[in-house]
Amino acid sequence: MSESQPAEIKLRRNTPQRKIILEELCAVKTHPTAAELYDMVRQRMPRVSLGTVYRNLEVLHEDGMIRKLEFSGVETRFDGDTSDHYHVRCSGCGHIQDVYDLGPGGTPAQPTELAGFRIEGHRLEYFGICPDCQTQAAQ
Ligand SMILES: [Zn+2]
Ligand SMILES: [Zn+2]
Repeated sequence: MSESQPAEIKLRRNTPQRKIILEELCAVKTHPTAAELYDMVRQRMPRVSLGTVYRNLEVLHEDGMIRKLEFSGVETRFDGDTSDHYHVRCSGCGHIQDVYDLGPGGTPAQPTELAGFRIEGHRLEYFGICPDCQTQAAQ
């Protein structure tokens, strides 16, 4: 594949590759890394490259089709679920779980303005020990 400008612009269109990457990402709740997603996508497109997967993930993210999860100190993960939800990550095994309801008073109010900034979003990161890791530790 050429690295020239027109080739990059062509990639913006909804290619069959991008469709498969999106389908695979939406089919799981594991919040995979690009490398994990590459392994999944390769089952359907044996000739795809890791670079292609990375590039398409960036485009899907820019187009608001997927979410990118950047936890501090952890490799970037991707989420096909763009609905409003939070994540809790296990410090033991790295498992990431969706949290849709933080309970009464759990969601911090979203200020429209902070220190003169126009707020576009916020990030809330929970971490702890998952039930599996708790069980293992207890044994
Ligand atoms: Zn765990
Ligand atoms: Zn999620």
